[in-house]
Amino acid sequence: MNKIQIAIHGGAGTILRSQMDPEKEKQYLHGLTQALEAGYAILKKGGASMDAVEAAVTSLENFPLFNAGRGAVFTHTGTHEMDASIMDGKTLEAGAVCGISNVQNPVQLARMIKEHSGHVLLCGKEAEVFAKKMNLPFQPDEYFFEEGRYRQWQEVKDTERYQLDHTDAKDEKKFGTVGAVALDMHGNLAAATSTGGMTNKRYGRIGDTPIIGAGTYANNATCAISCTGHGEYFIRAVVAHDISCLMEYKGYTLKQACDYVVKDKLVKMGGEGGLIAIDAKGHVELVFNSDGMYRGWMQNEKAEVRIYED
Ligand code: ASP
Repeated sequence: MNKIQIAIHGGAGTILRSQMDPEKEKQYLHGLTQALEAGYAILKKGGASMDAVEAAVTSLENFPLFNAGRGAVFTHTGTHEMDASIMDGKTLEAGAVCGISNVQNPVQLARMIKEHSGHVLLCGKEAEVFAKKMNLPFQPDEYFFEEGRYRQWQEVKDTERYQLDHTDAKDEKKFGTVGAVALDMHGNLAAATSTGGMTNKRYGRIGDTPIIGAGTYANNATCAISCTGHGEYFIRAVVAHDISCLMEYKGYTLKQACDYVVKDKLVKMGGEGGLIAIDAKGHVELVFNSDGMYRGWMQNEKAEVRIYED
């Protein structure tokens, strides 16, 4: 049997132990563990990495503390507009969706787009029409209400400021978003990412999450990547594809490529955030240039979950 592996993230940013409520910390760790186990169970049975990343991200989307699906942040007008993407490293096929509301699991819609639409990226109301056609579950606005997120929005809603998740108004350097990367026993890589974007976003702002090559990428020849961070920078640095290219064209190892892009290139541009990555041998990298990143991977059949730098 080939090595199987999965890694997940729930956002990066100024996540400091000194500012964390112990009860909340427990909940975050529980949410990460649940998602890892959901994805790993599929890989263990011989299932496909595409199914594993979809299951892990679905679990994170259903968990209200992460900024995706149920926990998506509020836009300027008090709605929730979600983005998601998924990519298959074996075929290089991908599906993505942006600016959608009320779809319970945007990652599942991204998968349907990949498989049944003949397109890669769909947006807004028409993407919701496609979701209905695919019989995906919808939820009313109340389902997406989360007290902490509502407070974040109230703090900035009358200003011009956008706010990244896991933060308060005084400190804009925290990011939400969830993602998963996996390697299955057939040697296939996959990646998926999902987000509510930034609190108080307006004018149809879209980040890196649904942009294949920026926030998400998978290629069996190199690696699978899912990003979180200040999306504008991740788009401009084409982060996920850049890492794959460094491996393909320059022979970098996964670690060299991730370290270079996250800790050097992005830092020089001013782009804060992180990513999870896995290569075809099952090496995992969980790299960030911020103080912390909600993250997890499997070690000896056990879920390892971390939040802070140490
Ligand atoms: N990258 C996401 C975006 O810019 C945000 C995040 O990771 O929290 O939309």
